[in-house]
Amino acid sequence: MDWYTDAYRACALPLAEVLGAQAAKAFEALRVHTVGDLLTLIPRRYFKGTELTDLASVLPGEDVAVEAAVKDVDIRRSHNTGREWLSVTLTDGRGTMEVTFFHPNIPKAPKKADSIFQYWTDNFSRAKTGMFIGKVGEFNGQLQMSHPTYVIFDAQGKLIGTDKRDDSMAKLTEGGLVGIYPASAKLPTWKIAECARIALDTFPDADPLPEWVVEAAGVVGEHQAYEYVHRPRSEDDGEVGAYRLRFDEAFATQLTMAYRRADAANQQATVIQRREDGLLASFDAKLPFSLTDGQIAVSETIFEELSQPRPMQRLLQGEVGSGKTVVALRAMLAAVDAGAQAVLIAPTEVLAHQHYHTITSMMGELAEPPLFGSTKPGTDVSILTGSLSAVAKRNAALRIASGEAGIVIGTHALLNDKITFANLGLVVIDEQHRFGVEQRAAIANKAAHKPHVLVLTATPIPRSVAMTIFGDLEVSTLRELPKGRADVQTVLVDAAKPAWMNRTWERIREEVEHGRQAFVVCPRIGDPKHRKKSEGPGVIELAAQLAEGPLRGLRIGVLHGKLPSEEKDAVMEDFASGKIDVLVTTTVIEVGVDVPNATVMVVMEADRFGVSQLHQLRGRIGRGQYPGLALLCADIPEPEKHVETRERLAAIAATRDGFELAELDLVQRREGDVLGERQSGGRSSLRLLRVLEHADVIAKAREIAELAVARDPNCETPGFKDAVKATEMITDTELVQG
Ligand code: ADP
Ligand code: MG
Repeated sequence: MDWYTDAYRACALPLAEVLGAQAAKAFEALRVHTVGDLLTLIPRRYFKGTELTDLASVLPGEDVAVEAAVKDVDIRRSHNTGREWLSVTLTDGRGTMEVTFFHPNIPKAPKKADSIFQYWTDNFSRAKTGMFIGKVGEFNGQLQMSHPTYVIFDAQGKLIGTDKRDDSMAKLTEGGLVGIYPASAKLPTWKIAECARIALDTFPDADPLPEWVVEAAGVVGEHQAYEYVHRPRSEDDGEVGAYRLRFDEAFATQLTMAYRRADAANQQATVIQRREDGLLASFDAKLPFSLTDGQIAVSETIFEELSQPRPMQRLLQGEVGSGKTVVALRAMLAAVDAGAQAVLIAPTEVLAHQHYHTITSMMGELAEPPLFGSTKPGTDVSILTGSLSAVAKRNAALRIASGEAGIVIGTHALLNDKITFANLGLVVIDEQHRFGVEQRAAIANKAAHKPHVLVLTATPIPRSVAMTIFGDLEVSTLRELPKGRADVQTVLVDAAKPAWMNRTWERIREEVEHGRQAFVVCPRIGDPKHRKKSEGPGVIELAAQLAEGPLRGLRIGVLHGKLPSEEKDAVMEDFASGKIDVLVTTTVIEVGVDVPNATVMVVMEADRFGVSQLHQLRGRIGRGQYPGLALLCADIPEPEKHVETRERLAAIAATRDGFELAELDLVQRREGDVLGERQSGGRSSLRLLRVLEHADVIAKAREIAELAVARDPNCETPGFKDAVKATEMITDTELVQG
């Protein structure tokens, strides 16, 4: 890979070339492979030898760095073995912890062993405070740490000793500060610091960003930032340095997005003028409900953008059931009216088929191509998914290629090279978070002109996250649910109490007796032979248990992702048409499934699901006129250890506001999860930027990126070229997996 700037070239250098193969190998476990990776591995915090750790917050079994005062030093001797150890009592002013160093007792080298023991004893007798890194144990109810990595200071704050009898630790404290890196057993924090400094000393002092960007951002130079982070002289240094490095990450993604937006604005798109006498008008005339204000407003924005010669790039987010599909369908009909084709891509087969059924039934006779000579509006609606028979696929492909199919619905199968469109004008992508930028591009490339793109997502996305992941899209939001939507009550069920579970199944019976239907969601398909002790039954086993036990006599169906897709469709259809009372299912029904007659959902092992997942699941009920009931069953034995889980479940029970829940979700989940699979693993992750926490950095980066594109529309600045290329490399690798 050729880079345009020295800084990027230096960052891309394999670690082995700077540190040697052995050291480089040790860093692999930390996902650090290049000089850039190492330099952006920054201390979690800095230790300055004066603050004391609250020992009450330290738990046995943890790997910690404890900062404490030395209270007492004592040499002890075992009555049984005669072996000696040095016992150092640490204190935070309230509690205490014991640090022990055992006499090495090396029979062949008694002198050496003695001198080490003497060294420890001498050091600690003068020590006032210190930092101790290691695993905390417990002995006789007392916190204890054995042979930790340490640095100790005298009363004047001067470093007087370390566990290494060389000066590596001493070097770390040149500025009186010790960085605490995310260390491992093989790579203690001082070793990481040492390596980072070696790498830094080979690093060019030439900022890849132009001076005006550095100034506008109010950040220090790049080399300075690395210096500050790895060789801090004052407490503020670390933060000032880290800020620049976070800005770099934010700026690179924002710059890429800004160039993409500019690029899209320069593309030629099919102009889609709304007509008063076509499919859309006929569809609107027979719509059985009136659109919500939100649906009308978003539709207006969309129609306005479709009428422009540059492609729309819009993300529509809205609660499950807020009516996004209707908005999307109206845009698709407008496209067909304008003589173009529209495609809707869903992330799974189940969803694609569900959309197909919903759309064809909403359209009614409009979903039939007009006969020769007829002026009645209508178009062919075709579905194409991977599991169709070869013949069905070929026929669909022909209708798509000829333009006969005005509306096309499908899955990733549509991305296949063999699929061509006669005149693709609009692409709608449902549930974007499973779809990447490159896939969006792959489908867009099937159009002669750049198609308009509308992305739908039911996961509410905070603004800073949207800017990072969907920065090339404008965002619209549907905040209200259609009127008349029934309420959904959510109740937590203690699964450890048989009476509660019995009541749960009874509720299902009652609903079914009233003609309603129910979902029972399980976290797994489940093979009873391989089930772990902590796991409940999977769908297959549970369905059998329910059929023989509490739900005997009800019509029970089973749905999961491993079923052949015809079977999946058949089960879904039977459930939709009321031939099945209770659907025992995995999360394949998570998104998009629409059965208004389903009123109860029981979620087994609800503690295994995340906030947004539970919220999505719950969105499957209360879609019709009947109130819904979600029963979240969980057996959470030790309350102290599962505060987060309880909080999560309680929050879901307390609110139906998806935006509120999305925030909680972000706080509870790791950032990598938030960004989807594509952001985790490899060198693709944002290393320092936390999209929620650093929203201000992202916003500033976006502003400056806009200026950058205005000043350098062709992306000729070497640092910009590198930043964009690096970001694109990331998206490429992400999307191979995605
Ligand atoms: P989403 O895609 O956002 O989950 P849908 O478009 O699938 O929501 O709408 C959910 C249900 O609400 C569907 O049955 C749909 O027909 C119905 N619906 C959509 N808009 C309205 C509205 N304005 N008034 C009443 N019902 C509506
Ligand atoms: Mg939908």
